[in-house]
Amino acid sequence: MKIVLKPKRDESLRRRHPWIFSGAIAAGDGAPALGETVDVYSAEHEWLARAAWSPHSQIRARVWTFAEQEIIDSSFFHLRLERALSSRRHYDDDETTAVRLVNSESDGLPGLIVDRYADWLVCQFLSAGAELWKPVIIDHLANLWPTQGIYERSDAPSRQKEGLKPLTGCLAGSPPPELIQVHEHGLKLNVDIKRGHKTGLYLDQRENRQALAPFCRDSDVLNCFAYTGGFGLWALRGGAAHITNVDSSEEALLLAEKNAHLNGFASSIETIRGDVFQILRRFREEKRRPTVVILDPPKFAENIGQIQRASRGYKDINMLAMQILKPGGILFTFSCSGHIAPPLFQKIVADAAVDADREVQIIRQLSQAADHPVKTSFPEGLYLKGLICRVG
Ligand code: SAH
Repeated sequence: MKIVLKPKRDESLRRRHPWIFSGAIAAGDGAPALGETVDVYSAEHEWLARAAWSPHSQIRARVWTFAEQEIIDSSFFHLRLERALSSRRHYDDDETTAVRLVNSESDGLPGLIVDRYADWLVCQFLSAGAELWKPVIIDHLANLWPTQGIYERSDAPSRQKEGLKPLTGCLAGSPPPELIQVHEHGLKLNVDIKRGHKTGLYLDQRENRQALAPFCRDSDVLNCFAYTGGFGLWALRGGAAHITNVDSSEEALLLAEKNAHLNGFASSIETIRGDVFQILRRFREEKRRPTVVILDPPKFAENIGQIQRASRGYKDINMLAMQILKPGGILFTFSCSGHIAPPLFQKIVADAAVDADREVQIIRQLSQAADHPVKTSFPEGLYLKGLICRVG
């Protein structure tokens, strides 16, 4: 099948951006099926790309290839998967066994996420194209990265926009146990790949969790939005005297406690289930002064329309964290909203410092881990940013 773009709507494709929005398409011959491969032409009828058709999404097609000679077949997926997997081979040791192997558009496979958790792979098929090629992809994965099993977690909300129903379950091999034990630079973590957030862990924060340890000797650490306690474990490994994990999810906090035991850090941990916005205010009222605070909230801005409200949310928690921190304390602060660009995030943190009436220095800028690469032609792939701040 063939689709033709409107005049002057070929520019982003010439820069190899992989998304074709519905408004850019002038005509097509016939009605391609969900995920079917289409050839994309400019208004001048020049061949541009080969893409997967998503009839229900605003992103109407996602490019598989910009090379005219490249056919979209089983060997295409073999090649792309092999390339993605081999770029993660250096993680293949016992020190770190939870790794993103395929990062969607940035690995040339729009809509496909593959994460390794020890002897299991967890996949998300988030586009019509990835869904269509699922059996082929699973086959290749089973050969290229032999594991005990491949589990599907295609229950991310983005599937809806593609007209796909949520799906979870075992795709190959044996079903996973309730908890899988993985290593993160030697620390042990239990992961619930069936019910956990995303595919089980926030792998994108791996290097940032490790970066926390050196700041934590004898410290009192407040770990906000703790999930299963990853940052807290690194604080304890770094010699923290006391840590407080705060999260709204009971299950996540239970797993955080389990993870602390697993690493022999059972004492000196406090757990608070609640809303971080309220807990920070309570700390302020009670004049509790931690020496390190971590703010790793969920995505506050899902779309452009939510940027302002999200900014207020980020500013609020950052201001509160700065107010309660002991003078000279350390703030690890993050935003995973792709719509909040790094300069805007820095501005929000600067505004928070003014409101908190504290002198704040940025001592390091952080991003997502190296197994979450960002293709230069796909800047949307960069979503996680963080700042390490010294709060005077
Ligand atoms: N720092 C974690 C990941 C955090 S994900 C890690 O490194 O693994 C965000 C977490 O925030 C989720 O666990 C979610 O349950 C929690 N959460 C979302 N909104 C919250 C709120 N208002 N108060 C407390 N926790 C919240």
